[in-house]
Parts: sequence; C-alpha cells; structure tokens
Amino acid sequence: MMINQLKQFVPSSVCLQCDGCCRVELADSPWRPKVGQQEIQDGVDQAGYVKTIPQGDRHQCVFFNKTDNTCGIYGQRPFECALYPFVLSNSSRGLEMYMHLACPYVQQHQLSQELQEHAAYLKEFFSRPETKAYLKNNNRLLHDYTSHNQELQFLFTVEV
Ligand code: SF4
Repeated sequence: MMINQLKQFVPSSVCLQCDGCCRVELADSPWRPKVGQQEIQDGVDQAGYVKTIPQGDRHQCVFFNKTDNTCGIYGQRPFECALYPFVLSNSSRGLEMYMHLACPYVQQHQLSQELQEHAAYLKEFFSRPETKAYLKNNNRLLHDYTSHNQELQFLFTVEV
C-alpha cells in the first residue's frame, strides 16, 4: 500500500505528544483529510473528507482515539494523513508540494538539513511511476489549497 512506502518526517513520539492533528476547529474545515477513491471509504463523507464528531470546542476525526492520541486506522489511514505536514496543492500553477507552517515540528525544523533532505526524498517519491499512478487513481487528493497560502511554504513542483 502506498502509505506504507512513504517515510514520515515527524517522529511518532512527537506526534503522540501534540494536540494539533486529527482535530479541526470547524465541522466543514478544509483541513479535514481528503480521502482518495481507492482508500478507506467507511467514515468518509460524500465530498470525500473524513467525517468528524464534535469534541469540546473542536471536531475530531471519527478515527481518532483521544485517550492515547492515536489513529484507529493507522495502517490504512488516508494518504493525506501520511503525507502531513506536507501538503499537495493542485491549482492553476499545477501540482505543488508545500509544508504546513502550523505544524510545531515544521516550525522548529523549517531551516534544518533534516527538512531539506526530506523534501528531496519527497521530490523523488513523487517522481516515481507508482506514485503518479496512485495520484491518478485517487485524484480526489488533488485539490487546491491556494486560499491557505499564508500557512504554507512552497517546496517544489510535482511533475504529473
Ligand atoms: S484518519 Fe487517522 S491520522 Fe487521519 S485525521 Fe483521522 S485519526 Fe488522524
């Protein structure tokens, strides 16, 4: 499965201590993960977003275990979840890779060699024929984050 081939940038020990991901402020937030057509379909709404449930003053993904901060479908989680804190944006400029500046780990490492190396790894990963085929077959993952550019930093153009 494609997500098992994708190396994670943020160590799980860091993610498990963070209260950012998997929860959004608004029920219709554009930051809810989008799910590809060939990915898990249970718990996904008609627009292709993971469903959320109210939790305090936020909305959490239906798959999120708030007791231990884990994903209930980790091995089958959407590709967008596995890719985060990197974000694919498909706009009139073409398909581009960004990093999400809201992620605390990105904020701490955005000028680091580690991040530059991971960006180079992602560039190679997205040039692979199997990745291109995956995106073609799951083109719901290709949506436009242009209106959130103030939270994003451009990394590279993805050739499709
Ligand atoms: S599917 Fe898993 S990783 Fe993705 S938002 Fe839901 S709980 Fe988080």
